[in-house]
Amino acid sequence: MDDVDRASEREAEILADALRDQALRAGLQGKTAADSARWCTDCGEKVPALRRRTVPGCQKCVVCQERAERKGKA
Ligand SMILES: [Zn+2]
Repeated sequence: MDDVDRASEREAEILADALRDQALRAGLQGKTAADSARWCTDCGEKVPALRRRTVPGCQKCVVCQERAERKGKA
């Protein structure tokens, strides 16, 4: 394995950790992909299948989720 492979593997780990943190903050522990909304509850945009699987129970698209989190912290 070369350095490029190692770097992208590390990036994938960081991304997975970030998604887990997001689920914890949003109170989505124990949810499954089936609990995820197909359409964003805020803007009505389609929630990508990858996001529904990686953030089980999510109800918003990435944009609205981040906006909601920023609002919550402000
Ligand atoms: Zn949205």
